[in-house]
Amino acid sequence: MTGDTALVWFRSDRRLHDNPVLSRAVDAASAVVPVYVFDPRAFGTTEFGFPKTGPRRAQFCRESVQDLRDSLRDRGGELVVREGRPEDVLPDLAAAHDADTVHCQTLPAPDEQGVEDALATALRDAGRALRTRWTHTLVHPADLPTPIPNIEDTFTPWREAVEATIEPRDPIPAPDSVRTPPVEAGSVPSLAELGYDTEPTTDDRAAYRFAGGESAGLARIEEYVWKRDRLREYKETRNGLLGPDYSSKFSPWLAGGGLSPRRIYAEVTRYEHERVENDSTYWLGFELLWRDFFQFQFAKHGAAFFQQGGIRDRDIDWRTDETAFRRWADGRTGVPFVDANMRELNATGYLSNRGRQNVASFLANDLGLDWRRGASYFESRLIDYDAPNNWGNWAYVAGTGNDSRDRSFDVLWQAQRYDPDAEFVTHWLPELDGLPAAYAHEPWTMDDTARQDHGIELGVDYPRPMVELDGEKERDADS
Ligand SMILES: Cc1cc2nc3c(=O)[nH]c(=O)nc-3n(C[C@H](O)[C@H](O)[C@H](O)COP(=O)(O)OP(=O)(O)OC[C@H]3O[C@@H](n4cnc5c(N)ncnc54)[C@H](O)[C@@H]3O)c2cc1C
Repeated sequence: MTGDTALVWFRSDRRLHDNPVLSRAVDAASAVVPVYVFDPRAFGTTEFGFPKTGPRRAQFCRESVQDLRDSLRDRGGELVVREGRPEDVLPDLAAAHDADTVHCQTLPAPDEQGVEDALATALRDAGRALRTRWTHTLVHPADLPTPIPNIEDTFTPWREAVEATIEPRDPIPAPDSVRTPPVEAGSVPSLAELGYDTEPTTDDRAAYRFAGGESAGLARIEEYVWKRDRLREYKETRNGLLGPDYSSKFSPWLAGGGLSPRRIYAEVTRYEHERVENDSTYWLGFELLWRDFFQFQFAKHGAAFFQQGGIRDRDIDWRTDETAFRRWADGRTGVPFVDANMRELNATGYLSNRGRQNVASFLANDLGLDWRRGASYFESRLIDYDAPNNWGNWAYVAGTGNDSRDRSFDVLWQAQRYDPDAEFVTHWLPELDGLPAAYAHEPWTMDDTARQDHGIELGVDYPRPMVELDGEKERDADS
């Protein structure tokens, strides 16, 4: 241990468990100043005109920061909270505390890289150093069989090589104590102070009520894996659409850093020893590798992921049609399975993986609209937004990313396969409640008598479909 004070800048790693940035700084310095910075750029507008961070994710972020502060205080430390650009705020704080080094997580997306570069320059000019660590994936890039610039662009060979050669590293325990010198702590800004004029609404129909922070994330592991014992059937239920437990719901904490993937993996391994090891326990790790894959892909391809042609530079003639886009975004396309999913997203900030795949495919492949606008809309709305996961998955579905196959989904077939009783569709579209499942999924197939019997007039009670769907599509893309 040296006599120095070190600054620890929390980014998407808002936790104490398995946080190598914090743990190594605590080990290396006699005191640490933990800092979280609300960067106004994260609360600006996307290239496509949507708020970058919708109020639900902003609230989740506030809760995460408050929880981090409480946990640090429990260990004798403090969390300094500031608003501003990290490259301006952190050098000043480092100077005020005479800290030689700022420690932080490194992230692969270009905006975050840009901030790191600007901060490194500002610190260097002041005779200080930035020490970054990669901390957010299950497997560490240094352990990869192939260095990031040369990794495969196709998931399966990459995954097979990883599974054959790497065991994830063990998670690091949270430090027992954190010594923070006297600081001016600052308060966690309210939503109003962050520029929101309304509180996020809640909806009783939501699959899950997400609360930000490491404490809630760890409680969700306890609930899903141990108390409700749902991991044992994850592979069979993960394509579900309704309720809290068809999938883990870990994504908002993984994206915001409340949970570490290595901690989840360690819990899965413990579960395999203490309860059962089966395809489902394997499959959760498999999905965490999908997440890793997109993180490494972003580190490899960077800004190309945001280009219309994507990493494959494909020349596709995407349409721009504001009315069509709004119908998709508002859940008024006239295709119930698409509309129910979009209404869930709008009402809750969360959507199942099956739902995301279908609405993305509908926008890109059935409507032919610029996929980046859909991705940008998701960015605005999702509580679990993560740039590599979101843009990587969108590009994948739109045919501009890590898959050379046509990923068009037959949304009508998908609706019948994954929502056979139309329970999900009527959950989110009450105007179709009471219809037999076949009509609830395809209300345009009702004849006059059926329409009268059920009291539904298309174009009045529910929109007519905005596009004719052909059946020549992939039926079950089960990624
Ligand atoms: C168009 C589209 C956009 C998406 N945008 C995001 C996003 O912004 N943020 C995000 O976290 N996930 C995104 N996903 C991936 C996936 O849909 C969510 O991670 C998952 O639905 C979250 O619910 P869960 O935690 O219950 O998932 P589970 O099924 O329980 O999976 C466990 C974890 O594995 C990871 N995972 C699962 N599926 C995928 C996948 N297809 N790709 C990458 N990682 C995966 C996630 O971290 C997830 O939390 C997107 C998928 C699509 C098709």
